[in-house]
Amino acid sequence: MKDGESKYAYKKRTAWELFSKQQLTTAFSFAEGYKKFLDAAKTEREAVEVIADIAKKQKKKVIINQGKSAAIIIKGKKPLRDGLRIVISHIDSPRLDLKQVPLYQDSESHLALFETHYYGGIKKFQWVVIPLALHGVIVKKDGKKITFTLGEDDLDPVFSVPDLLPHLSHEIQDNKKIDEAIKGESLDIVIGSVPARGDFKEKIKVAILEKLHEEYDITEADFISAELEAVPAFKARDLGFDRSLIGAYGQDDRICAYAALEAILDVKNPEHTVLALFVDKEEIGSEGNASAQATSFLRSLIRDQDANVDIDGVLLTSKVISADVSSAVTPNYTDAFELKNASSLGNGVVMSKYTGHGGKYSANDASAEYIAEIRSLLDKAKVPWQTGELGKVDKGGGGTVAKYFSRLGMDVIDLGAPVLSMHSPYEVTSKVDLYASYLAYLGFFKS
Ligand code: MN
Ligand code: MN
Repeated sequence: MKDGESKYAYKKRTAWELFSKQQLTTAFSFAEGYKKFLDAAKTEREAVEVIADIAKKQKKKVIINQGKSAAIIIKGKKPLRDGLRIVISHIDSPRLDLKQVPLYQDSESHLALFETHYYGGIKKFQWVVIPLALHGVIVKKDGKKITFTLGEDDLDPVFSVPDLLPHLSHEIQDNKKIDEAIKGESLDIVIGSVPARGDFKEKIKVAILEKLHEEYDITEADFISAELEAVPAFKARDLGFDRSLIGAYGQDDRICAYAALEAILDVKNPEHTVLALFVDKEEIGSEGNASAQATSFLRSLIRDQDANVDIDGVLLTSKVISADVSSAVTPNYTDAFELKNASSLGNGVVMSKYTGHGGKYSANDASAEYIAEIRSLLDKAKVPWQTGELGKVDKGGGGTVAKYFSRLGMDVIDLGAPVLSMHSPYEVTSKVDLYASYLAYLGFFKS
């Protein structure tokens, strides 16, 4: 192999060595904007608003669907029938959702709690005994929407799921399998402990309801028409002596969403019409009207460009990057990975030919032809990149939005940053992988 051709390939050198000193400085300042984005966009609704705010500052229009998915589209020089260049990322993350009837008083422990149902694939033991913030909306019967955030300001109270002390957990938890030790139904959040004064039942619950009514105009029945999400109350922070990494909640997939947003905002006069799509509900199978499977939104975006265009024809010639994260090789657990085909932090953006599980079931399996195109594009744009897969064969797996878009006849490849401790309350990424993802999406939009 000629050096010029091969040096950007997997594991020859890390992105830290491939980037120039100037690029590393840029990558670090790029990460500052990303950390602010993470802190401001902890739910899909907030992400839509923050994306719209950032775009507005650069005089770019954002089209919003259901308040939970968003799109930025920029007309290209070529006609629409030559296809779009689409980067699709998701803006939902695993969390604890409140149930419709969440509030109760536990008389034995003298506490008021919220019932939750976890959203997305979590390891339940990671979500107890950490500070949680509540984010979301409550919609009153008359349609009035109350936007709710509590637990993010340093002066705000936080919430938490309690766990049993080690002294007592031997029989109840310690001898059980790790995924059975903490039950989904026990992930309830402590929200208060002061009883109301008077002679009636459930005094703590009553006191909480009084407070909610006074401060937020919420009644108990209003929870029925609410979407409240308990998310880790941590702020995005630099991680490591060298500040090379970022520790934060919700980086799957907001790292790709932010990189795609910044990339499309930096595209000037593209050849093809370019589209950055930000969707909801990826973590629960892309179901619902703001998800990647709700393709009427995509169709309406194309129709808005040209009412007479053959939309299916446009879809057939379009090319897509499914901008989603991949699993980074995890220290002390390297046995879970087949290391020749696994991605690592700091080695650049990860290209995954397929996802799925057991015999590539449920995978988008990108064609060799399309991968050759993307590989060539990444090398030309001097983007550090690597290949990746989600663990050893038959050891697990997962999916992205790629398969839903490939069904529309488009070429789709998964390309995104590697993440350590994925789906945990504190995911870890590398600043160079974030910047490499941005450069990859920018190069694709320019192609
Ligand atoms: Mn994801
Ligand atoms: Mn995920």
